[in-house]
Amino acid sequence: MIRILNVSKQFKKTETQALLDVSLDIDQGEFVYLIGKSGSGKSTLLKQLYGEVKPTKGHIIFDSLIVNKLKSKELPNLRRKVGVVFQEYKLLEYKTVYENIAYVLEVTGVEEELIEERVMEALKTVGLKHKALDYPQDCSGGEQQRVAIARAIVHKPKVLIADEPTGNLDPRTSLLMLRLLHKINKTGTTVIMATHDYSFVNHMPARVIRLENGQVKSDRSKNHTLLILNNTMGEYYVV
Ligand code: ADP
Ligand code: MG
Repeated sequence: MIRILNVSKQFKKTETQALLDVSLDIDQGEFVYLIGKSGSGKSTLLKQLYGEVKPTKGHIIFDSLIVNKLKSKELPNLRRKVGVVFQEYKLLEYKTVYENIAYVLEVTGVEEELIEERVMEALKTVGLKHKALDYPQDCSGGEQQRVAIARAIVHKPKVLIADEPTGNLDPRTSLLMLRLLHKINKTGTTVIMATHDYSFVNHMPARVIRLENGQVKSDRSKNHTLLILNNTMGEYYVV
């Protein structure tokens, strides 16, 4: 479904080589952890999947769309297939939880009855129907991230991209978020989650792609993942 072919990205201003000859195939329905230290190129890779950054070399193909060749007026075709969540929740403070989610559908001209049905369905998935009329500031950090997830799935995207979605959450809430992403994956949505927290891989195994200095260092399906706990560093390494 997603094919990344020999993709390199160099940022002109700083001459940083953020990605170097990355090739990957991701199938419909997969759950993928994209792991690697800060600065290893995770966000740059994800941004190319939703057309925010163009590769310097290589191709990105999503279904039948050649993403790197899309003109800006064609981007909505791509964005309809993709939902994105970030470390920051990016909710609009002056809109209620319901309005924050409905907004996504309103701008694409979906009729009002269907909007209500879809928004309530998305809120049910994330367990926040009771918060529909509250404002973001009346929600905890974990709840705000769940609203952001509901907003990202309300248009039923084929892929949910989550870039460090637990970065601002405590460990317990992070695990709830991880479970929620796996639950969404079970409904058929492909999930690609970037994280520098390797311990997630142990909690809920899935495919693990590890980036190091912009290159794919390993790519293991869940059955082949072997984790080693480095006691001195207190970190997990995937080998
Ligand atoms: P990660 O998400 O794994 O922390 P990033 O993809 O954000 O890594 O960054 C990879 C490298 O590219 C880093 O060295 C970063 O400083 C650089 N980089 C990212 N975005 C830009 C940009 N817009 N301009 C210049 N350099 C960038
Ligand atoms: Mg990042």
